[in-house]
Amino acid sequence: MYGMIATWRMALEGIEKGAQVLKENGNVQDALEVAVCDVEDFEYYKSVGYGGLPNREEEVELDASFMDGDTLAFGAVGAVKDFANPVRIARSLMQYDANNFLVGNGAEKYASSHGFERKNMLTERAKIHYENRLKEMNDELKPYSGHDTVGMVALDQDGHMASATSTSGLFMKHPGRLGDSPVCGSGFYVDSFVGGASATGLGEDVMKGCVSYEIVRCMKDGMHPQEACEKVVHQFDEELKRRRGKAGDMSLIAMNNQGEWGCATNIDGFSFVVATQTCQPTVYLAYREENGKMRFAEADQAWMENYMQTRTAPLVRK
Ligand code: ASP
Repeated sequence: MYGMIATWRMALEGIEKGAQVLKENGNVQDALEVAVCDVEDFEYYKSVGYGGLPNREEEVELDASFMDGDTLAFGAVGAVKDFANPVRIARSLMQYDANNFLVGNGAEKYASSHGFERKNMLTERAKIHYENRLKEMNDELKPYSGHDTVGMVALDQDGHMASATSTSGLFMKHPGRLGDSPVCGSGFYVDSFVGGASATGLGEDVMKGCVSYEIVRCMKDGMHPQEACEKVVHQFDEELKRRRGKAGDMSLIAMNNQGEWGCATNIDGFSFVVATQTCQPTVYLAYREENGKMRFAEADQAWMENYMQTRTAPLVRK
């Protein structure tokens, strides 16, 4: 059995490519790298890689991670500027026994001395979004809407598992701000003996519960990925509301080492993509029912068309 699962519709084309690698008996890490780079390279996705939205100083700072479920090795970068594919840098950092998580200038020095492709990641569209947002805000920078992470978990035909994430983090974030996406246990976790999970949402809240690790731990205790996702997301969402009066957006996907998968969210209409040996790459929408139980609907033609149209529609300066 092979399989891949990813957060958000934006992963679809990447998952199609990655699933092909797995189908041809390719390596799980290669499949993930192909899939995440595809999302990073597509300029119309404004929360990952090229075209990602900038921080409040109009600089695109990117976070990414990679984890090997066999050895539990991980690599991660945070607040990296001017490199085309942060996920590749993260993958490369897995090979060391130390210095696996590099941020800012240090990460850029590493990337540059190891030959990773440099690129100005700030697009014209992202500049327009930035200028428009500045005009909408008075002097207080509060709305961070316009963030998403591509997070993936994959299983190859030999039973190896891995995970990867990539994001530009929160729009208008403070320079140097890191979310959950490059943080092991919070934004991602994978263990080939069990399964893996990955998150998208408000990093500051996701990190409070180490939710990706928590889901893998529940799967290790015998839960199906769906049960594990629902339990962890629902309970933590409730706990945050009880203790803090509110909970940020939080959406998790998971797959176990049998290729069974799960997803849970505290928002309505969260999209995610699944491909397995027995299921073509498919976009699902997740809706909350009672007690954190989820209902999934396959995205229909109209939804898919509208999605791409709204992403690529011409942008005007306000
Ligand atoms: N989790 C990401 C962050 O906080 C953003 C997102 O996934 O929406 O940086």
